[in-house]
Amino acid sequence: MDFFSGKMGWIEVICGPMFSGKSEELIRRLRRAMIARKRVQVFKPTIDTRYSNDEIVSHADTRMKSEAVSNVHEVLTRLDWRTEVVGFDEANFLGPDLIEIANQLADSGKQVIIAGLDTDYMGRPFSPIPELLAHAESITKTLAICMRCGNPAKHTQRLVESDDLIVVGAAGMYEARCRRCFEPGVPKQEYLDFARPRINAPAK
Ligand code: ADP
Ligand code: ZN
Repeated sequence: MDFFSGKMGWIEVICGPMFSGKSEELIRRLRRAMIARKRVQVFKPTIDTRYSNDEIVSHADTRMKSEAVSNVHEVLTRLDWRTEVVGFDEANFLGPDLIEIANQLADSGKQVIIAGLDTDYMGRPFSPIPELLAHAESITKTLAICMRCGNPAKHTQRLVESDDLIVVGAAGMYEARCRRCFEPGVPKQEYLDFARPRINAPAK
């Protein structure tokens, strides 16, 4: 997005369910900023160490160096104030203070790009992403492919039993589902075989 010139900052949000390409899109935008010789810093929460501590990694294994922070305030201490573009991955785990910090960064002239889940495993808005949409100059909603029927999917279906809001996991613990196939909580329907094999699939 290049519709601003000069030193004005702004907020871009990339949101959608798991497997919808949020990390890929974040990495694509950050790479373009690097090609434009901008100074870039990327942060992710330490809660998400599924693949790597110092990289963001997409499900298709695209990677980019990042800094893991245990809370969003650590971003301010880690930030080099010469940085022009600040990326956040898995921002739904960073909590409500991200709203103020993202605005502070944008007000000080930085391009802020935030990727995160907009709904939780029950299909409810997942704070702080919905609030950030209201503050953003640019919003991109990415959709995945429903693993039951192949339609565009906006939901993250949890496949393992838990009432906790946060259960960190990837393929095997979650899958993408469309609004027709989504079952809030744990699914009762049988898995379809065109989906990739799962660790907890029943033995045949
Ligand atoms: P997100 O950050 O939204 O979880 P990623 O950028 O990490 O998504 O991964 C997107 C990639 O995941 C796709 O390019 C594709 O290769 C792969 N993928 C796996 N399952 C699905 C699915 N159900 N729908 C779409 N892409 C999927
Ligand atoms: Zn479906």
